[in-house]
Amino acid sequence: MLERPGQFIGGRELTGEEAPEVAYNPATGEELSCLASASREQVDKAVAAAKQAYRSWSRMSPKERSLRMLRIADRIEELADEFAELEMRNCGKPIGTARAVDVGNTIDVFRFFAGAARTIQGLPAGEYRSGFTSMLRRDPLGVCVGIAPWNYPLMMASWKIAPVIAAGNTVVLKPSEHTPLTALKLAEVCAEFLPEGVVNVVTGNGPNVGARLVSHPDVSMVSLTGDVATGRKIMEAVAPTIKRTHFELGGKAPVIVLEDADIAAAVEAIAEGGYYNAGQDCTAACRVYAHANIHDRLVAELQEAIGRITIGDPAEPGTVLGPLITARQRDRVDGFVARAVADTPAEIVTGGTRPDRPGFYYAPTLIAGARHCDEIVQKEVFGPVVSVTRFDEDAQVLDWANDCEYGLASSVWTRDVGKAAAFASRLEYGVTWINTHSVNTTEMPHGGVKMSGYGSDLSVYCLEHYTVTRHVMIKH
Ligand code: NAD
Repeated sequence: MLERPGQFIGGRELTGEEAPEVAYNPATGEELSCLASASREQVDKAVAAAKQAYRSWSRMSPKERSLRMLRIADRIEELADEFAELEMRNCGKPIGTARAVDVGNTIDVFRFFAGAARTIQGLPAGEYRSGFTSMLRRDPLGVCVGIAPWNYPLMMASWKIAPVIAAGNTVVLKPSEHTPLTALKLAEVCAEFLPEGVVNVVTGNGPNVGARLVSHPDVSMVSLTGDVATGRKIMEAVAPTIKRTHFELGGKAPVIVLEDADIAAAVEAIAEGGYYNAGQDCTAACRVYAHANIHDRLVAELQEAIGRITIGDPAEPGTVLGPLITARQRDRVDGFVARAVADTPAEIVTGGTRPDRPGFYYAPTLIAGARHCDEIVQKEVFGPVVSVTRFDEDAQVLDWANDCEYGLASSVWTRDVGKAAAFASRLEYGVTWINTHSVNTTEMPHGGVKMSGYGSDLSVYCLEHYTVTRHVMIKH
């Protein structure tokens, strides 16, 4: 068991004052930590610490903020193995992935936003009315709240902290109750280089700790990565105080494989992107539409590729597929698979089973013959399950791809650049990949449309969510 006080408020760790939340090692099913949750008073204390710190942090020069953030990035890099090990134990991520992707991206995000901190000013000034000079200022908002999910705990913490503090705000982050450990460690690292209270972390569940935090009157803005239902609740909770919000919610990415596609490349990308992080990814390549003329070949090759996925102990370097986050999540995935093949033409090509080992594992699963209207094609499963649906006409598949409540990520596979461009212009998704899937870069925004939310993480564009543009007018 890992023992920690559980709260990080005003530059120091404090022990929570309410009922504890247990976090598990999903690879073994054993308890990993048991942290007492933040009380109402501790949530208030975290917001007060952030409010107090805002006075000096918002006035610090962008260069000084930037230098401190660069030091944070360097320190995370020094501690990379420790962060990766903790993330692996709390999330079941294969160790190599945790180190290269989760920790690697976190370092990159702090470095990117350290640079971006110095570019935020510099908006146009001019004499728009004779005798008056108008200037635009871009100023921070105050105390921002980040609410993070369990699928990428450290990365999501960095996405919710780095741009916020780069812009001169202070932050209170609430990680998922299932995965609080790397966020607490990140707060500890931030405190080495930042004034106390700039970064605070409170832990506990959503209905108590999360709800108290987002409705606090001294909070200016709430950024959530999580479920659609949680987005709705937060929208209601912030209504009385008219806070800004930014939502990264679910997804159900269509992978459109046209007749002329490089099938081997598409198969490789689906076998990776459909099962990466055990499918617990809002951009997972999970909703495949294959042209009728290549459908059978794609399914057969995908089945073979899935057979090569190594399931195992996340600590082993060769492991590709680790466990799901909780037993509940595994049961939920199993329910989706059972319903997908009950009284429908769909069938399980491979998987649909629980490997006989401790922990919350689920076999990589491929379902063929699913119809566009089926639950398995429409709803987010958040597990290692990919469905393939056959289509005949390009126009039909475009309609199907867009006929979904989500709008986060999509991909199109074709050798015809004109077709690729036409699909990209008509797909109603925050990102469209051509001949690739689930590749992100910190310079580009990550966000969706429709029920996937609004606003974006990453890139300089996300700084707009964390700043206000103000007009100053000077009479000559
Ligand atoms: P969740 O919505 O259950 O929890 C997310 C966070 O919200 C947790 O910290 C939780 O404690 C908190 N929360 C829950 N209820 C709350 C409330 N009433 N007030 C304040 N906070 C509350 O989601 P999850 O199960 O942790 O994560 C999985 C979901 O996240 C999936 O739906 C997935 O699609 C989504 N997700 C989206 C993206 C994206 O970029 N769009 C990325 C990763 C995950």
